[in-house]
Amino acid sequence: MKPLVKPPFGVPSKTPSVAVRPSFPARLPGDVALTTTKFSLTAARAAAVALPWEPRKSHLPGIFGGLGMDSRAIRSRMVSRLAAQGISDGPVLAAMGAVERHRFVDSALANQAYEDTSLPIGLGQTISKPSVVARMLELLQQGGLHDASGKLGRVLEIGTGCAYQAAVLSHLATEVYSMERLRGLYDKARENLRLLRLPNVHLLFGDGMNGFPKGAPYAAIIAAAGGEAIPDAWIDQLAVGGRLVAPLQTAPGTQSLVVIDKTRHGVRHTLLEAVHFVPLKSGIG
Ligand code: SAH
Repeated sequence: MKPLVKPPFGVPSKTPSVAVRPSFPARLPGDVALTTTKFSLTAARAAAVALPWEPRKSHLPGIFGGLGMDSRAIRSRMVSRLAAQGISDGPVLAAMGAVERHRFVDSALANQAYEDTSLPIGLGQTISKPSVVARMLELLQQGGLHDASGKLGRVLEIGTGCAYQAAVLSHLATEVYSMERLRGLYDKARENLRLLRLPNVHLLFGDGMNGFPKGAPYAAIIAAAGGEAIPDAWIDQLAVGGRLVAPLQTAPGTQSLVVIDKTRHGVRHTLLEAVHFVPLKSGIG
């Protein structure tokens, strides 16, 4: 089946009457964070008058029983932890600090969004933990083809999931093509990105085993699902000078990160640390 190409997300032509997702945690006028752990719906509605969104009941526990502090502060703590774990690429750390991970997970899990843990995103799939996202993006940054401004060129991502990593990548690359094989997650990813205004992210629905030849050659390719081999199509679609980073099954039940650099003289494979990703599967679902 041919991948369905969706145009880049544009800026909405007019402000939607109901902003879909609240900022997290909610902020009151005067920049006072809501720390109330016990709430009444009346009080919540009264507060909502001053807020640019209408809280849905399902949002309330996440917001009002939430972390009680600005999510920027929580992200900067996450970034400090990443730096302490050895991530040193400035643009990667900045991008991880910029993207609100809590917007990509179910509101019931939002209070775990900045812990270094993978979380379920539905259909048996998971969002990778921040340290693994940062590690893979740093590996891409250390290779791959960069333009004069220092950004990676066109990047292909296999396994959009909830589109968190695609959003982080959008800060590091000129264009991001991200492909997902599960329709339910593709739709969820579109919804998650809708209000973020990331015109350089292009979501694709299809089997990423074949890559996306229309966008090739790619400055870099990244996969968020691990198979028994790296598909030839990915190597073919990588530009000379480009880098691929992916999980690879090295023995039954064991995956490692692999880095593949494509040079004029051939392809160089480097096997790195053990990782644990969902399986790379053929076909669409
Ligand atoms: N980077 C994602 C992680 C998603 S988990 C995030 O930030 O959320 C990996 C995803 O790869 C799953 O959604 C799974 O459905 C998808 N996947 C597995 N095999 C695939 C294939 N052949 N083509 C496209 N997507 C695939």
